[in-house]
Amino acid sequence: QPEFSGALAELMDWADGMRRMKVRANADTAQDARVALGFAADGIGLARTEHMFFEKGRITAMRRMILAEKESDRRAALEQLLPMQRADFMALYRVMQGSPVTIRLLDPPLHEFLPHADDELGELAEATGLTMRALRRRIDDMQEFNPMLGKRGCRLGVTIPEIYEMQVRAIFEALAQSWADGPLVVPEIMIPLVSARREATMIRRTIDGVAMAVAAETGRDFAYKVGVMVETPRAALRAGDLAEDLDFLSFGTNDLTQMTYGLSRDDAGRFMRDYVNLEVFAEDPFHSLDLEGVGELMVIATDRARDRKPGIPLGLCGEHGGDPASIRFCEAAGFDYVSCSPFRVPIARLACAQATILQRRVREAADEAARAGAALERSGAAGAAGAA
Ligand code: PEP
Ligand code: MG
Repeated sequence: QPEFSGALAELMDWADGMRRMKVRANADTAQDARVALGFAADGIGLARTEHMFFEKGRITAMRRMILAEKESDRRAALEQLLPMQRADFMALYRVMQGSPVTIRLLDPPLHEFLPHADDELGELAEATGLTMRALRRRIDDMQEFNPMLGKRGCRLGVTIPEIYEMQVRAIFEALAQSWADGPLVVPEIMIPLVSARREATMIRRTIDGVAMAVAAETGRDFAYKVGVMVETPRAALRAGDLAEDLDFLSFGTNDLTQMTYGLSRDDAGRFMRDYVNLEVFAEDPFHSLDLEGVGELMVIATDRARDRKPGIPLGLCGEHGGDPASIRFCEAAGFDYVSCSPFRVPIARLACAQATILQRRVREAADEAARAGAALERSGAAGAAGAA
């Protein structure tokens, strides 16, 4: 723990000994991962791969892929992207030294990937071989009125499977190439924005197929896990089905809050203070879990998932993962981990320890009440027998 010394280091050690839940970090780059590890994160709970494509060279290749009309153009763009992604994942595996690494497949709102400026269009016309007119038409066809509710997350992977195939190949090839005495890690592959069981099973089939192919090509026998993000209300309600087909579930409470309230996560901040001041909401629901709404859905999901697959690992990777009150909720619900931004990791470690202690007290108080109730019943029964 290079960041802490003296009494603070002692406190953090104590908290780590006390807490039940793991604390992972949301990290997309080797630099973020190093910060997370410096704060003693127990792994990466969310690597948002779309963040890996915003650099200039990469975004052009991704746009070329998405806008391609010809299969050959799409393939050429994918070939350009594959080694970049492989290097990204290798860097994460190496930094994390065997701790879990959860990689989320691409989840961009499409409009963030489409070009806007004229110079970007010119460059892309050259790269795709399309005329400016054809390119503009193609971009217009892809514009959405509600990008956050549009062809986002796994919808992109279902309709353009090559993107996820490329990413998954990179995940496994990076594993094979960074082989030491064995694999550096068991990657956890996460499917975003699922709302239908078929989405998860279709993509899982793709992942399993690529895994088999890479294992055969490289002669490496590796393990991996496949899970989904529970971030639509429907996914929460159908969590039993999802659990049956998958190895873990992770709650994406940013989107789950947005969709449960029908409240834009990007715009709500503009009036949230007024809403809290006017006591419409007790708290900003994007900051702290709303127990009577989003939390209820999470409890339903957790019960249904565990009912169908007892012991299935459950995590939370929305911003709430670094909020102490939300962490208490996760402890009470029996989650396995929370994942938060790297700089929130120390707070989350302390909050997890506190939550473990509070939860133990709650359990002890319930046991005590049950014992007292049973004793009362016994003495009532004895009294009744004596009277008879
Ligand atoms: C979420 O929705 O809570 C989440 C973690 O995903 P993102 O913030 O990337 O949409
Ligand atoms: Mg999300």
